[in-house]
Amino acid sequence: MVMHLMQLPREVLLGEDLKGEVPRVAQRLGLGENVLLLYGPKTRKIAGEGVEKRLNESFEVESLIIRAPTMDEVERTIDVAKAGETNWLIAVGGGSIIDVAKLASYRLGVPFISFPTTASHDGIASANASIRDLGAKTSIKALPPVAVIADVNVIKTAPYRYLAAGVGDMISNLTAVKDWQLAHRLKGEYYSEYAASLSLMSAKMVMKNADIIRLGNEESVRKVVKGLISSGVAMSIAGSSRPASGAEHLFSHALDMIAPKPALHGEQCGVGTILMAYLHGLKWNHIRETLKKVGAPTNAYELGIEPEYIIEALRVAHTIRPGRYTILGKEGITREAAEKAARITGVI
Ligand SMILES: [Zn+2]
Repeated sequence: MVMHLMQLPREVLLGEDLKGEVPRVAQRLGLGENVLLLYGPKTRKIAGEGVEKRLNESFEVESLIIRAPTMDEVERTIDVAKAGETNWLIAVGGGSIIDVAKLASYRLGVPFISFPTTASHDGIASANASIRDLGAKTSIKALPPVAVIADVNVIKTAPYRYLAAGVGDMISNLTAVKDWQLAHRLKGEYYSEYAASLSLMSAKMVMKNADIIRLGNEESVRKVVKGLISSGVAMSIAGSSRPASGAEHLFSHALDMIAPKPALHGEQCGVGTILMAYLHGLKWNHIRETLKKVGAPTNAYELGIEPEYIIEALRVAHTIRPGRYTILGKEGITREAAEKAARITGVI
């Protein structure tokens, strides 16, 4: 018998001033007495201290400042959690902090709550952790958060650039699903129509709501957060990152490795989506217009990356994750084809 396991967050809260809700959520879910709180040097001040204060009223709280999404930090977290007999973790921060908590909690076998301070990528609700190990960033399978608490007031204080990056990460779903269908047809890979539909819906919703998102107000944050959570849920339904990660993500990972100064994950994925949409024969212009409208980068110059690295990333993207079949094929594309795609789409 083939069994398909779907693990999803049990509670998703989206609203204003939710720091005080954290203890209530933990109590409802019966998470236990000892909590380890992770935040970054900045997110500590933005929301971490507030959450800590509320938690201190009813829990035994230990806290840890996380500096980078590295394996070392994951191990340090595990050590502290073991010493403190931690029952659950909570991450107050952007991608890095959430990723460290996600992997550490998975290895420890305890639940974690995601309290995002930015809406820049769909990792806030997904099961995959992006961790740097031995210099390279890899996506490691873990478990989704038991709860996501998205405080609109907190997320709104992050620079607008992060919200626009979140749009880029969601628009990726358009080409990711195309790649997934290709792998299904050519390689017989498992495909879930439900997961694909949900993933496409979040991408289409942000495209439809681009005018609201560009305002950068509370409603904009709500639109982006909802989409990112749906994206995370789509991945949980699929049991893999397939619905939200295709060749455009491989391109972004390649840039992370070769560009001297990479841009934000969602920014690179957005530009990658323009390129992959062109290769797929999709309406790449429409994607570019949406990104432009929300103020996300659409070319090398806006990413702050030299054109040479864009071409190189396109050329090597297929080697990043050989098991993930995409429009780039097994052999990748030639330098000439890469340059042509980048020129036609105005990326370089
Ligand atoms: Zn992503």
